[in-house]
Amino acid sequence: MEKVVVIGSGCAGWTAALYTARANLRPLVLLGNQPGGLLTTTSIVENFPGFPEGVDGYELMARMQKQAERFGARASFSAAEKVDFSKRPFALTVDGEQIETETVIIATGASHRRLGVPGEDLLETKGVTYCATCDGALPMFRNQPLVVVGGGDSACEEALYLTRFGSEIFLVHRRNMLRASKIMAERTLSNPGIKPVWDSVVTEILDPIQDKVTGVKLRHLKAGGESVLNCAGVFVAVGHVPSTDIFKGQIEMDTHGYILPRRGAATNVPGVFVAGDCADRVYRQAVTAAGMGCAAAIEAERFLSAENQ
Ligand code: NAP
Repeated sequence: MEKVVVIGSGCAGWTAALYTARANLRPLVLLGNQPGGLLTTTSIVENFPGFPEGVDGYELMARMQKQAERFGARASFSAAEKVDFSKRPFALTVDGEQIETETVIIATGASHRRLGVPGEDLLETKGVTYCATCDGALPMFRNQPLVVVGGGDSACEEALYLTRFGSEIFLVHRRNMLRASKIMAERTLSNPGIKPVWDSVVTEILDPIQDKVTGVKLRHLKAGGESVLNCAGVFVAVGHVPSTDIFKGQIEMDTHGYILPRRGAATNVPGVFVAGDCADRVYRQAVTAAGMGCAAAIEAERFLSAENQ
């Protein structure tokens, strides 16, 4: 029987593991399908306090894991497939095996939102990607025109990163103003290698018949009308969706699938706590996820101590 199982291994998960490990609870961390979470796909993280020169996203996560393991956290290369929160101890199905646990900290984060247009699925890995840091340096993108879709910090980061590889970067956004933070927006719009394409949406990605990306069809939302923009790659950065499918029906969430925290990091199920992007549609920062992971761990520890009194 486990005392604490942390589901997920991003900033929220590893911080929760660090705090519960230091409380001698020997947390078991299920790393999930993307160990280290979304931050491992970022190049440089400039806004995590304590790193004045910035820190590589993968390195930051590796350090968090090492720190938590130093105090007794255990990492498992596995993913939870099913949970039963109807009675305690809670039952988790993990890679086909059953695990029982007194408390759970959900830190499953979020995954990339898809555009949902024709061509997107068929051309994934053939020019359509959701991560410039992972794929931007591939030969198929070198010295080619590339399209980034989105107007947030992720889209700006992707566009800036891609200027190292592409011949020109088109930033396609559905409005005429970026959502990104001021510093990222300014950096992006002042970069001569990036050309914004305002008030436009991608309606189709071409060309599945050639089995590679050759361009995108665009619709101008104000003027109307469609056009084709030739490119060799489409980098989709239109936000995220919470990774909470396995908790549906088990725990309270909003209509978009974000788990609803109650009083800090508690949930409507006593003994189940939540932290990070799977419960946060507002801030979604590495440092806020870490902070919430800390809160979830403290709540879990208090919950267990109150029961054992
Ligand atoms: P985001 O801030 O939610 O931005 C998503 C962007 O995609 C928005 O510009 C949105 O347009 C657009 N969009 C959404 N659905 C679309 C669709 N179906 N078709 C076309 N466009 C669509 O997401 P994000 O950029 O991934 O950032 C997530 C969080 O991580 C934010 O809090 C951000 O600050 C943080 N982050 C920070 C950094 C950094 O500090 N360096 C880097 C990456 C991410 P609208 O603007 O019209 O809504």
